Amino acid sequence: MARILVTGGAGFLGSHLCDRLIKDGNDTLCLDNFFTGSKRNISHLMSHSHFELMRHDVTFPLYVEIDQIFNLACPASPVHYQYDPVQTTKTSVHGAINMLGLAKRTGARIFQASTSEVYGDPEQHPQQESYWGRVNPIGPRSCYDEGKRCAETLFFDYHRQHNLDIKVVRIFNTYGPRMHPNDGRVVSNFIVQAIKGQDITIFGDGSQTRSFCYVDDLIEGFIRMMATEKGVTGPINLGNPGEFTMLELAEKVIKLTSSKSKLVFQALPTDDPKQRQPDITLAKQHLDWEPKVNLEDGLKETIAYFRKLLND
Ligand code: NAD
Ligand code: UDP
Ligand code: UDP
Repeated sequence: MARILVTGGAGFLGSHLCDRLIKDGNDTLCLDNFFTGSKRNISHLMSHSHFELMRHDVTFPLYVEIDQIFNLACPASPVHYQYDPVQTTKTSVHGAINMLGLAKRTGARIFQASTSEVYGDPEQHPQQESYWGRVNPIGPRSCYDEGKRCAETLFFDYHRQHNLDIKVVRIFNTYGPRMHPNDGRVVSNFIVQAIKGQDITIFGDGSQTRSFCYVDDLIEGFIRMMATEKGVTGPINLGNPGEFTMLELAEKVIKLTSSKSKLVFQALPTDDPKQRQPDITLAKQHLDWEPKVNLEDGLKETIAYFRKLLND
């Protein structure tokens, strides 16, 4: 039985990953400081004999014996990562150093949840892994973008310098049950607003695009990436190439919730990327992976989750 550490394990993606690791028969150590994560996301796992929860902040050293590390700890929504930007950079950078130090000492394979934000506001479309990106180093998103970029640098330097077995994926916008209802991301915002009959907040003119991946598809990609042979380091894009404008997303959410909500237009946040779509050629080649859940089906699951959450 593999002993697997998931940092950020009580968050949206981390809790789904813990579910999958437990289902596959692994000994799973979930670590979280509960900044954006919640015990509710993992409460159903607490009584499982192979599941363990630890309250810890990855910016501090961690000494445990472990075979694999999935490093997911980091707030992911702009509202949350801009709340305490210094802590966000520390989480990515000091967190990466500590987890890489842990991997170095234990010989564990280590996975990094990087992001499409490393491409910034991209000039290349769709984005390939070879694209170096266009990131503002001093703007309000920089704590997240540059923190994640520096974490990638650390991963590749530990790989080259200390021969660490690294796996880096760049995640594109992912949604599904257990997203935080107030985390400000577009899918959760639109669904919560539509269910409550509140105005749907479109930032800018709504013509900017994103490509939305359903959480189950993404987790399958994580598992396949972690199972690749040692030489496969990534970075590999994981996301759904289906690309939509925010106006299209709002229309779909309104239709699927039968909502009477109206659209309102608000200022576009600084440095908001205009378009984003993953090129997933490498994921297909190396992982034999591509997403299976289309946006409408994934939204239905997510809407059902939020309806239940808001009624509880
Ligand atoms: P999330 O906010 O739900 O999860 C992040 C988790 O990390 C939370 O449980 C939080 O409490 C925890 N955390 C934050 N700082 C920590 C610290 N210093 N020490 C320990 N735990 C800490 O977000 P998510 O969507 O589940 O994102 C998980 C990872 O995936 C993040 O690294 C994020 O950058 C990356 N990612 C997510 C997406 C997406 O669309 N969901 C896209 C790109 C990258
Ligand atoms: N570290 C950790 N757990 C370990 C080993 C290391 O948290 O089991 C941390 C420790 O804080 C250290 C960092 O990881 O500073 C980087 O470790 P590395 O061995 O690369 O560097 P060094 O110990 O020389 O600073
Ligand atoms: N967005 C929006 N209304 C909202 C929240 C977000 O129009 O209530 C837009 C946001 O400006 C961005 C897109 O939706 O263009 C995706 O935003 P999100 O915060 O979900 O992710 P990210 O910008 O990090 O990709």
